[in-house]
Amino acid sequence: MKIILNPNPNPASDADRAAKVAQGGFGKHYTDNMVLAQWSEASGWSDAELKTYGPLSIDPATSVLHYGQEIFEGLKAYIQPNGGVSLFRPEANAERFRRSAARMALPELPMQDFVRTVEALVNHERAWVPKNFGESLYIRPFMFASEIGLGVRPSNQATYIVITTPASAYFNPGKAVTVWISTEYVRAAPGGTGEAKTGGNYAGSLLAQKQAAAEGCDQVVWLDAMERKWVEEMGGMNLFFVKGAGQGATVFTPKLTGTLLAGVTRSSVLQVAQDLGYKVEEVMISVDDWHRGVNSGEITEIFACGTAAVVTPVGAAKSAQGTWPTGDGNPGPITNQIRQTLLGIQHGTIEDKHGWNKRVS
Ligand SMILES: *Cc1c(COP(=O)(O)O)cnc(C)c1O
Repeated sequence: MKIILNPNPNPASDADRAAKVAQGGFGKHYTDNMVLAQWSEASGWSDAELKTYGPLSIDPATSVLHYGQEIFEGLKAYIQPNGGVSLFRPEANAERFRRSAARMALPELPMQDFVRTVEALVNHERAWVPKNFGESLYIRPFMFASEIGLGVRPSNQATYIVITTPASAYFNPGKAVTVWISTEYVRAAPGGTGEAKTGGNYAGSLLAQKQAAAEGCDQVVWLDAMERKWVEEMGGMNLFFVKGAGQGATVFTPKLTGTLLAGVTRSSVLQVAQDLGYKVEEVMISVDDWHRGVNSGEITEIFACGTAAVVTPVGAAKSAQGTWPTGDGNPGPITNQIRQTLLGIQHGTIEDKHGWNKRVS
């Protein structure tokens, strides 16, 4: 895939860009450019074009608007100590994008084309990468069915786009979230699309998110669809639990059953926790295990992780059975240590032993 550079002739001024970066948030402002490529069954992938960020003109009968055949990714670029910029594990996102495409009957984008288009855009927009620890340039690659027509079948045309937005810390890291354990709604069922990063999984989750908010909670915890017993994920993040304290602690997470989304952060946290000397486990965790564990004090900390927020402490869970605080409800020491270590690796201030950072500028 050739990348044709046709950048925005009127990019934001230094002052305008600085003001937008300083505002932070998540997805509030987008950078000057985007990358776009088209696929058709007849001719495969087009060249990619780096061009001015802006609205798309879409026929009302475009397939994605009706049947939701769409996938996306989320990854970040971090400022490095010498002023350079690195991507965090982009190959892992490229590989997952390929798997999501296969599940959603979209064309597979070769991994090197995913990585090269992301690198090209981030390199071009490097002035938009925030300079503070914990901040980043969030990258959103996505692909959708762009065939025009209402026939229900895999689209014979697809559009791939990459956009970027400066991001401050997504959740306040000092504040633990409260979660609502939903027994009424499910996110994913065996044989469904839970393993794919597709918009429909999110669309189906919003009513439960609304219910969580009505219960005074920040996020939803999803249980398995079959027994409504096994803990799967929290909103769009993977969950972790800590048993015990100090160097003898065990860090464990729900095992991937085919209905969970395999987070890049999840896999990084498993490795970082092990590197820090903790025992790590991927196991089945029931709601009862959760309840009993926090009640007896065996479970000392709970946190969620994902690219957007990195690591977010879970201070309490609420369900139809009652409210169960985690410890004293404040972020725990192992949660903080893992968060700081992962962010340190991403920002190049802690040794990147596993070769996760990919330098782009
Ligand atoms: C994206 C996502 C995650 C987190 O994945 P990361 O690769 O760590 O960002 C977890 N759960 C769901 C449902 C997701 O969509």
